[in-house]
Amino acid sequence: MKKFTEQRIERIIYASDASCIQGKAMKVMHPENIAEIKQILARHNVTVRGAGTGLAGGAVPQQDVVIDMSRLNRIIEINKERKYVVVEAGIVLADLNMQLSRYGLEFPVKPSSHEVCTIGGMIATNALGLRALKYGSTRDWVLGLEVIDGKGMLRQIAKPDVKDFASMEGITGIIVRAKLRLVEIPSRNLELMRFESLKEMISAVRELKREASVSMLELIDRKTAELLGLENAYYLFVEREGKKKNNDYDKLMKLREGVYSKLAENGYTRIEDPQLYMDKLPKLMEWLERNHVPYFGHVAIGLLHPCFSNEQEKAGLIDSMHELVKKLRGKVSGEHGIGLLKKKFLADVDAEIISRMKRRYDPEFKINRGKVIDVPKNLLNDNAEDENGKEN
Ligand SMILES: Cc1cc2nc3c(=O)[nH]c(=O)nc-3n(C[C@H](O)[C@H](O)[C@H](O)COP(=O)(O)OP(=O)(O)OC[C@H]3O[C@@H](n4cnc5c(N)ncnc54)[C@H](O)[C@@H]3O)c2cc1C
Repeated sequence: MKKFTEQRIERIIYASDASCIQGKAMKVMHPENIAEIKQILARHNVTVRGAGTGLAGGAVPQQDVVIDMSRLNRIIEINKERKYVVVEAGIVLADLNMQLSRYGLEFPVKPSSHEVCTIGGMIATNALGLRALKYGSTRDWVLGLEVIDGKGMLRQIAKPDVKDFASMEGITGIIVRAKLRLVEIPSRNLELMRFESLKEMISAVRELKREASVSMLELIDRKTAELLGLENAYYLFVEREGKKKNNDYDKLMKLREGVYSKLAENGYTRIEDPQLYMDKLPKLMEWLERNHVPYFGHVAIGLLHPCFSNEQEKAGLIDSMHELVKKLRGKVSGEHGIGLLKKKFLADVDAEIISRMKRRYDPEFKINRGKVIDVPKNLLNDNAEDENGKEN
């Protein structure tokens, strides 16, 4: 009886992720190795889960079995001279970087969720982060992968084919191992710059982007600043490498990393991630300000995080924003992915390309069904299960 209750609680916990979309987990499984994952996949449709910090519902189960990757978390090899590491996909980024720091190395892509997110989740969503200006996205740092495809085959993926899995949100295969490029840890300083006008701030961004030492350029708008207890103005967090660490570095970094939590605490829970060319960015910023939507983000690469309240969402503001982003020829999602949340915004041409990729690696739609693209009608009721995992 006790075991049944524990399983039920687990199914409830794993029914959602940081997107707060509710799904349904038929069972949660915690494999420890590749053979166990293959066995699960041979019997079930599965949803793959790293740490569940995804914001588009990619790890939300659709009446299938959740594979929790957290027990595949070992470091297989560190090569200090050639600056690479081979890891299992369930390793948490902060844990990896702590181990690497003993060798003076780090994995440089740093999402704000770095304390908990896994390498597998980062690769699947091609996560960016605070240092996107200098280090780009996760995919740029993947040298090779080991993946289990929808047919249960373990594939060795070399660099040219990494793109078939990195940014595909787990729909083409389960990433089990990754070989990652590393950097030597540089010394860094961080300063908070204040601006009175949007124009002044944007022109500073253009200047700072030209400085080779700048690794991070993060914006917060007036409304967000006030919620953080700062004076009403625009602010840029500017990190430079090769400079001596300042005394308030950790305090400032904590302030930047706590921005979304602060907005969520104040009711602005629905975070978006549109990305635009720099010259179009002010148009979006002005629209957000007119509609009282606070925002922050990776301004150097044109990626903003507007955060909406429930009332603003109900009033249709999110859809209106995406209409504007489309008109400005921007991307609906620069880093969080499509998942369940943004399927309706996916262009037909992109859906077609993704569909072809899905059919190549997972023709029966066994992995992450219903994410990014719909399941074809003829496969819809395949392998339906009851809550005890028995096939109907
Ligand atoms: C507070 C907060 C801050 C964030 N900041 C950033 C940021 O700065 N930049 C950014 O890009 N994102 C950010 N995110 C989004 C999220 O953290 C990242 O996308 C992260 O990389 C997801 O990792 P995860 O382990 O939690 O993956 P999950 O949420 O568990 O999964 C995400 C997707 O990847 C798939 N997946 C997970 N593991 C595997 C695997 N081994 N094989 C195949 N598919 C897999 C899942 O099925 C799902 O589709 C943030 C989220 C939060 C809550």
